[in-house]
Amino acid sequence: MQLIEFREEGLYVPQADVYIDPWKPVNKAFITHGHSDHSRYGNNAYVCTHAALPVIKHRLGSHINAKGIDYGEEMSVNGVKFSFHPAGHIVGSAQIRVEYKGEVWVASGDYKTTTDGVSEDFESVKCDAFITESTFGLPVFKWQPQSEVMSEINEWWRSNKEQGKVSVLAAYSLGKAQRIINNVDHSIGKIFTHGAVENVNEVIRRQGVHLHETTRVVQGQKQSLYAGGLVIAPPSAVDSAWSKKFKDFSSGIASGWMAVRGTRRRRSADRGFVLSDHADWDELVSAVKATEAERIYVTHGYTDTFSKYLSSIGYYSAVVDTDYTGDELSVAADDVEATETK
Ligand SMILES: [Zn+2]
Ligand SMILES: [Zn+2]
Repeated sequence: MQLIEFREEGLYVPQADVYIDPWKPVNKAFITHGHSDHSRYGNNAYVCTHAALPVIKHRLGSHINAKGIDYGEEMSVNGVKFSFHPAGHIVGSAQIRVEYKGEVWVASGDYKTTTDGVSEDFESVKCDAFITESTFGLPVFKWQPQSEVMSEINEWWRSNKEQGKVSVLAAYSLGKAQRIINNVDHSIGKIFTHGAVENVNEVIRRQGVHLHETTRVVQGQKQSLYAGGLVIAPPSAVDSAWSKKFKDFSSGIASGWMAVRGTRRRRSADRGFVLSDHADWDELVSAVKATEAERIYVTHGYTDTFSKYLSSIGYYSAVVDTDYTGDELSVAADDVEATETK
């Protein structure tokens, strides 16, 4: 049974007239998480987890018709059972489970299976068909443990501080930024944030998620205030005139794309840290296996390579065309623009 169809508006559950993460405006949209390529303007009604709702309203406007649901809570629409399960990607992110007449499909949205100290831990869900992302679906992508990446960041920050430099670290404002804020060594110094990051922090704190203390960077403050500090900002801000206010600073970028040779130089950062909120190759493969699904649909990223590999190990696998970008760096540029027009 084709419980979920791949339509030009998005992933569609015809029996319930529900779309999952549609990229064109529809009547009913069930949303996996608040990143802008999965959660778009213009739908008549939205459903997402209670934990994802504040950020989605922050981005799309508080006027949207949106309803929250608990993880694991069942919602029935015309005989189709829906439930949301942690995807481990960012706060509130979910995989959406769809069940009808004994058939179960799961749409992953974006996910990672490792613990990050901010997001709800990934939960594997058994199904007949699994719709998976594959942003980093190449065998070369193999992430180090988070603690090792944080040690590298701490070392860079400490050494900049000793040289009297500010450390300006580019990180996607929803997800990566909070992960870094909570996991770096707070004994080194103060953490400052660009407005795009701090606006998200405020929303997330208000819903009860613990984030370490941060200070918003505002115009016209004394240079000495930032001495020895770590400034977290979206990549496009670090590239722009915005970062010039720190005068003597070292710049870094935290992204999964830092694993690709040349990315750091193209972004003209002094240091690159490989840190992603998406699953690496091994995580993708084990997540697929853990679902015990026989059919796998691959939505975005290195879809061809990942899908071919899955076919080679005996799955029915197909690539699905979507409008999900899965690009942490380019998504971040949109993010800053959106904040600055507010
Ligand atoms: Zn995402
Ligand atoms: Zn995505």
